Amino acid sequence: MTEGSGAIKAVGRGAANRRGAHFVAAPGRLDAGAAGQHTLAAMVSLPDFIRGLPKAELHLHIEGSLEPEQMFAFAGRNGIALPFASVEALRAAYAFAKLQDFLDIYYQGADVLRTEADFRDLALAYFRRVAADGARHVELFFDPQTHTSRGIPFAVAAEGLLAGMAQAERELGVSSKLILCFLRHLDEDAAFATLREAEPWLDRIVGVGLDSSEVGHPPSKFAGVFRAARERGLKLVAHAGEEGPPAYVREALDLLHVDRIDHGNRALEDAELVRRLAREAMTLTVCPLSNLKLCVVGDLADHPLKRMLQLGLKATVNADDPAYFGGYLAENWIAVSQALGLTREDLVTLAKNSFTGSFLAPEEVARHLAAIDAYAQAQPEIA
Ligand SMILES: [Zn+2]
Repeated sequence: MTEGSGAIKAVGRGAANRRGAHFVAAPGRLDAGAAGQHTLAAMVSLPDFIRGLPKAELHLHIEGSLEPEQMFAFAGRNGIALPFASVEALRAAYAFAKLQDFLDIYYQGADVLRTEADFRDLALAYFRRVAADGARHVELFFDPQTHTSRGIPFAVAAEGLLAGMAQAERELGVSSKLILCFLRHLDEDAAFATLREAEPWLDRIVGVGLDSSEVGHPPSKFAGVFRAARERGLKLVAHAGEEGPPAYVREALDLLHVDRIDHGNRALEDAELVRRLAREAMTLTVCPLSNLKLCVVGDLADHPLKRMLQLGLKATVNADDPAYFGGYLAENWIAVSQALGLTREDLVTLAKNSFTGSFLAPEEVARHLAAIDAYAQAQPEIA
């Protein structure tokens, strides 16, 4: 898995280098352009500026960071036969027309996760990648029902992930918090059962979320279990407005009383809702490459992120399920920045939103905001 993270890093750096004459790693260095001319370039490439920018990831399903290579490795060590002949055949199956196509293969893939060591290694591989992307903090989701329904105890997933998170903080300096997601295609009784199972770990789980198939499973279906979670002092988030209508976003606000909306794209169809989200400074955890891969947007150039910022919405950029959607945190930032022509100011705003929208303590948020300002001031112009 170390090799895997190295490969991704190398790809990212290669892409930066292909920017050719525009790529300069450090200010004031002499840069040989394509024509052989030497210019004094006090500039930083967009990918390098983004990778160096301190940021948090707030919308990441850890099971969605399971790379095909890892799937085969875990299957091998757990003695599981996969219905794919090779890593390439599996990767080729990652072509989705809609959310459900993805979910079908995602649940199948998660079946290779059997032991605490599997969950720990999965988390560590993810953290190594995003540490290289400039992530300083992550609030990650996991789907306990995906595991308990196939006989893997809640404790195996929770303890494995928490071990990986602790190791990542020690070794990589990336802090993290764990969010338990209820699967919305199941009923509320199943969510209540999961919350009861989670009881021994609730001092180490920051909040609950709501994910899986959105359309036909409105937030109202889970009002009771979210109330119970709130009474236990847990933070609340919910996927809403990815494929579902603006009414689902309203339900998440009014019936679930969420602290953040995951995605929220379709809120833009409702002007009054947009004004409310802006007024309440509600954080939206937006996932550009996921939106592209699941056909929520046809082209990244049409992605609503820039418009969200212009409307005063507190948007953040995140990877969602990076192994399936073609990019980790920095790749999402770079792709959407290039497609929409985001400014340096936009990037700094997005980075700050990722911390002010997090569940970190105020003094920790302040420390990260100061680091962002210091970084932005020290960086030369973006090429
Ligand atoms: Zn998601």
